[in-house]
Amino acid sequence: MPSAMGFCVPTDTIGDMEPQLRRPTRRACERCGRVERWDGDAATWRVASEDGDKQVGNPYCIHEWDINGRFAPFEEPA
Ligand SMILES: [Zn+2]
Repeated sequence: MPSAMGFCVPTDTIGDMEPQLRRPTRRACERCGRVERWDGDAATWRVASEDGDKQVGNPYCIHEWDINGRFAPFEEPA
Protein backbone atom coordinates (compact mmCIF):
# COMPACT_ATOMS: atom_id res chain seq x y z
CA MET A 1 0.00 0.00 0.00
CA PRO A 2 1.65 3.25 -1.10
CA SER A 3 2.22 5.85 1.54
CA ALA A 4 0.91 9.39 1.18
CA MET A 5 4.47 10.68 0.84
CA GLY A 6 5.28 8.33 -2.00
CA PHE A 7 8.27 6.97 -0.18
CA CYS A 8 9.06 5.46 3.16
CA VAL A 9 11.14 7.27 5.77
CA PRO A 10 12.79 5.00 8.31
CA THR A 11 11.49 6.24 11.60
CA ASP A 12 14.67 5.39 13.47
CA THR A 13 16.60 8.09 11.56
CA ILE A 14 14.24 10.90 12.54
CA GLY A 15 12.73 11.95 15.80
CA ASP A 16 15.35 12.89 18.35
CA MET A 17 18.04 13.62 15.76
CA GLU A 18 18.51 17.23 14.73
CA PRO A 19 16.81 17.50 11.36
CA GLN A 20 18.89 20.58 10.49
CA LEU A 21 21.98 18.39 10.28
CA ARG A 22 20.51 16.66 7.27
CA ARG A 23 19.75 19.86 5.40
CA PRO A 24 21.93 22.40 3.65
CA THR A 25 22.12 25.64 5.59
CA ARG A 26 23.99 27.72 3.06
CA ARG A 27 23.91 27.93 -0.68
CA ALA A 28 25.74 30.02 -3.22
CA CYS A 29 24.89 30.74 -6.84
CA GLU A 30 27.57 29.64 -9.27
CA ARG A 31 26.43 32.25 -11.78
CA CYS A 32 26.09 35.53 -9.91
CA GLY A 33 27.60 34.86 -6.49
CA ARG A 34 24.42 35.28 -4.48
CA VAL A 35 24.70 33.62 -1.09
CA GLU A 36 21.76 32.62 1.02
CA ARG A 37 21.43 31.06 4.43
CA TRP A 38 18.58 28.92 5.64
CA ASP A 39 16.47 30.56 8.32
CA GLY A 40 15.00 27.64 10.20
CA ASP A 41 12.65 29.77 12.24
CA ALA A 42 11.07 31.36 9.19
CA ALA A 43 11.58 28.24 7.07
CA THR A 44 12.93 30.27 4.20
CA TRP A 45 16.21 31.24 2.53
CA ARG A 46 17.59 34.66 3.38
CA VAL A 47 20.33 36.60 1.70
CA ALA A 48 23.58 36.15 3.57
CA SER A 49 25.83 39.02 4.56
CA GLU A 50 29.58 38.77 4.39
CA ASP A 51 31.85 41.58 5.50
CA GLY A 52 28.77 43.74 5.97
CA ASP A 53 27.66 43.39 2.37
CA LYS A 54 24.58 41.48 1.43
CA GLN A 55 25.48 38.84 -1.11
CA VAL A 56 22.44 39.54 -3.26
CA GLY A 57 24.05 38.71 -6.59
CA ASN A 58 22.01 39.40 -9.69
CA PRO A 59 18.24 39.56 -9.09
CA TYR A 60 17.61 38.54 -12.69
CA CYS A 61 19.91 35.57 -12.49
CA ILE A 62 18.51 32.09 -12.89
CA HIS A 63 20.40 30.91 -9.87
CA GLU A 64 22.36 27.74 -10.03
CA TRP A 65 22.87 26.77 -6.44
CA ASP A 66 26.03 25.20 -5.22
CA ILE A 67 25.09 23.64 -1.91
CA ASN A 68 28.01 23.46 0.46
CA GLY A 69 29.10 20.00 1.36
CA ARG A 70 27.30 16.92 0.22
CA PHE A 71 23.60 16.89 0.65
CA ALA A 72 22.26 13.38 0.69
CA PRO A 73 18.67 13.10 1.89
CA PHE A 74 19.17 9.43 2.57
CA GLU A 75 22.18 7.54 3.84
CA GLU A 76 23.87 5.37 1.28
CA PRO A 77 23.83 1.76 2.45
CA ALA A 78 27.33 0.74 3.42
ZN1 LIG B 1 22.51 33.62 -9.43
